[in-house]
Amino acid sequence: MKYDFVVIGAGVSGLTSALLLAKSGYHVAIVEKSDQISPLLRGFTRKGVHFDTGFHYTGGLGPGEPLDIIFRYLGLSDHLTTFHFSEQGFDIFRSIKDGFEFQFPTGYELIREKLVAGFPDEAKAVDTYLQMVRTVCASMPYLNIDIDFNETSLLQGLDDRTLQETLDALTANKHLKALLSMHCVLYGVPPGEVSFSQHACIVGNYYQSAMGIRGGGLSLAKAFDVRLKDLGIDVYCGSMVSEILLSPEGAVSGVKLANGTELACSGCMSTIHPVTMLDLLPEETFRSAYSNRLRDLKETLSAYMIYAVSDRAIPFLAGSNLFVFPDVDDLSNMGVRPLEQNLLYLTAAYKGTESEPMGFIGISPASFEQTAAWKNSTTGRRPDDYRVFKDDVITRLKCHIDSYCPELRGTMTYTEASTPLSVRDYNNTPLGGLYGIKHMVGQRNPFPVTKVKGLFLAGQAIVSPGIMGAALSAFISCGNILGHDRLRKELRACS
Ligand SMILES: Cc1cc2nc3c(=O)[nH]c(=O)nc-3n(C[C@H](O)[C@H](O)[C@H](O)COP(=O)(O)OP(=O)(O)OC[C@H]3O[C@@H](n4cnc5c(N)ncnc54)[C@H](O)[C@@H]3O)c2cc1C
Repeated sequence: MKYDFVVIGAGVSGLTSALLLAKSGYHVAIVEKSDQISPLLRGFTRKGVHFDTGFHYTGGLGPGEPLDIIFRYLGLSDHLTTFHFSEQGFDIFRSIKDGFEFQFPTGYELIREKLVAGFPDEAKAVDTYLQMVRTVCASMPYLNIDIDFNETSLLQGLDDRTLQETLDALTANKHLKALLSMHCVLYGVPPGEVSFSQHACIVGNYYQSAMGIRGGGLSLAKAFDVRLKDLGIDVYCGSMVSEILLSPEGAVSGVKLANGTELACSGCMSTIHPVTMLDLLPEETFRSAYSNRLRDLKETLSAYMIYAVSDRAIPFLAGSNLFVFPDVDDLSNMGVRPLEQNLLYLTAAYKGTESEPMGFIGISPASFEQTAAWKNSTTGRRPDDYRVFKDDVITRLKCHIDSYCPELRGTMTYTEASTPLSVRDYNNTPLGGLYGIKHMVGQRNPFPVTKVKGLFLAGQAIVSPGIMGAALSAFISCGNILGHDRLRKELRACS
């Protein structure tokens, strides 16, 4: 049996690609190295509390917004119950050094109102910034399905102005600049590196609305399970693709799995880390300039993460996340500062579909180098000195949280933690980047179409990270096969 397409990797981008291709009548298989599809979304449960590992909230999922339209088009919405994060403060910004706190709202009008109230002398900067964000989002063909399609505007990374440069030109107010760049945590690239347009495409969705899904990422994974079945997509889990097979003419002819199974196909959509993809092909497939470019792509920040169960409900994290900044002066060296001087991001964990958090996840950006001494070890088989190191990280993170988040003091009854090494092994990114490869000024990420006939790329490396970015990458890549105008017309019918 020959498939029209085999999709490599069952994360959001692979799953979206598989559904799109199957909806158009193609015979599709999807291969996932983990035992179940979408391991990043599934998270884990301790003491009855579910901890998300790859999804806490998203922008653009409010009624009629881009991700809502995409989920309805994919047939996922009927299987999901969404909820709004707090309109008045979906993200709370807290600066320890000077006690500055700001509840970042959703909705452009409310954002303007609260920012201008907080920074009365900066109304012009606020207006210009918000207008710039809106303009970028409105010019993106899949964020705005009403505009004419334009291939170049899909590639936001081509903008050569960083967020930092843009903000510096607008204002000298360091608190305002910190507030407008705090969301760089959501894509793992400092303000001095990310292009303004990449930043705008991501935050613009959160500025519209910030939504969660009851049951977290696991509910989304289960919705994908249902739709894969509905559309007759063959799912191969528990064995990784070890080779992409090419015909004598150099076109895709199949994939080989590590367990020896071969799946013949005419096309292949790779949604894995681009460097991992290179390793699946004969070395001479691409010109060395292209391969070297991919191998040199810089990774997003990694992190230490702590997962805490609480003995009581934590109402202040219901519908809000907390961003703690030791000081607002410098967001550029996140992840290389000592843990105590580093940014901390806190988000809720729930029991099942309950609405009161009974735990939380703390994320502190870190670099892979901090754990490089144990890079040759794998999960479950780390040496004793790593265990000592990790215990120390847990103790310090707990102290950090106790010091700066009095609301959580004494609530932690049980904790787990992960380090950049765990992220590397769990997320399949060579250097433990939370969001894979950076989208940054001066770096050219790969395009969806490759020079190999039948080989397409999607995934967070192609367009942008996050559920939205991964889903968009699938549309942008599959649009090359199915036709962008057709896809966008069908999306419009769901709006
Ligand atoms: C801690 C954390 C929190 C996050 N929070 C949010 C959030 O709140 N909101 C949000 O929108 N986004 C969030 N994200 C980002 C979001 O989860 C990702 O950007 C998105 O899920 C990436 O999807 P993807 O399909 O591109 O990649 P992945 O989900 O990484 O999919 C690639 C898949 O390929 C599989 N694979 C790898 N190699 C092979 C192989 N050789 N053969 C077969 N399969 C293979 C992997 O196992 C993996 O399942 C978070 C990420 C992290 C790490």
